[in-house]
Amino acid sequence: SRSDITYFGAGPALLPTDVLEEAAKALLNYHDTGLGIAEHSHRSQLAADVINQAKADLASCLDIPDDYEILFMHGGGTGQFSATAYNLVGAWVTRKQQEISGGIQGDPTDPKATQQLKEAVDNNLKIDYLITGGWSQKAAAEGERLFGSEHVNIAADSRETNGGKFGTIPDESTWKLSKDAALVYFCSNETVDGVEFPAFPKSLLPGPDGKGPIVVADMSSNILTQKISVENFSAIFFGAQKNLGPAGITVVVIKRSFLPPITSQPSARLMRQLGLPIPPIIFQYETIAKNNSLYNTLSIFDVYIIGQVLAKLLRTYPDKVEGQQAMSDKKARLVYDAIDAFPEIYKVIPSKAVRSRVNICFRVTKGDDIEAAERAFLEEGIAQGLTGLKGHRSLGGIRASNYNSVPLEGAEKLAKFIRAFATS
Ligand code: PMP
Repeated sequence: SRSDITYFGAGPALLPTDVLEEAAKALLNYHDTGLGIAEHSHRSQLAADVINQAKADLASCLDIPDDYEILFMHGGGTGQFSATAYNLVGAWVTRKQQEISGGIQGDPTDPKATQQLKEAVDNNLKIDYLITGGWSQKAAAEGERLFGSEHVNIAADSRETNGGKFGTIPDESTWKLSKDAALVYFCSNETVDGVEFPAFPKSLLPGPDGKGPIVVADMSSNILTQKISVENFSAIFFGAQKNLGPAGITVVVIKRSFLPPITSQPSARLMRQLGLPIPPIIFQYETIAKNNSLYNTLSIFDVYIIGQVLAKLLRTYPDKVEGQQAMSDKKARLVYDAIDAFPEIYKVIPSKAVRSRVNICFRVTKGDDIEAAERAFLEEGIAQGLTGLKGHRSLGGIRASNYNSVPLEGAEKLAKFIRAFATS
């Protein structure tokens, strides 16, 4: 039964049992309306209340400043690989257009201004990516697919200095950042490769004038596991399915200066003149923001679960995400300490300085046959109720995902098993 197992899957992840029990009731009869939460209109006041409460609680958990907007979107993390590029390139073009046309918004009617803008695009439009694992690699590939390799700058790729493999983060001194990039993209925690940025990169911090690069981060797998300074980012996105709720909703936290009335996306006609693509309407942040995430039918049930998970976090930890961070760190330490105690038996895949606290990836090197040792590890783990530990197919080995819903006792049980297996 559910209480017999601890699930360490990489996503979808465990959801808190009490949240699911309440959700089961809400699916049948929400707030005594006789109608379930998934049946109510997304245009109802009740739906707006669910969205607004979830936004308020997320802002509270993460200390999101007032000049940021929270969007609930479709299309998963993968949708955001496209959306971040579309929208922030659009914002870049608008900025250039304003510089060239002296602050006049809308299409520059002057063909000379359009020509100048075209030259700016051809010569200077760059999207920077830091590639540190499979997910940032996919994001960069999407940027290239949409905008062409001439507009994509791989500012760093950890495989170049690590024998073609992920598992490190190149030293910042080697990063080749573009001047005035439309965005600099990184994945804060690489779910497949077990690589996490230990801190916000120094070279992406704003300078003394308060100006800095436009930083976009994929925080799908480590959001709400650590305190972050949202103001360092122009946009953050995360799929719900690891620390927040069921698969189906992706959250975007974006600085309002990238939304109207400060920044409007360039018109479709202008973008066509410039040879640049425009986003499908459901990927246009401006549209989603203007409609409080209800431009089209959103799964209010998913947002409801997100709201319940956030409310639980706020109830459990008076100091909010800092309390959750202390717990996440403690659980990760338990597991890594157990692994590190047996260097002959286990080998953590990424290098020590960039080990993820969330996705703990390691090999079992017991005996001559690694595959057989790992099979035995997985089978014995399952027999003890420790499930979802098989590593991603691209990396092999073991992956223990330490999401927020994995209880301390679950991490303790895993650590104990790791020690016992090593000495058996
Ligand atoms: N980014 C990261 C860090 C991920 O772990 C994942 C997958 N879970 C994605 C992006 C892609 O998300 P999705 O499957 O929702 O498109």
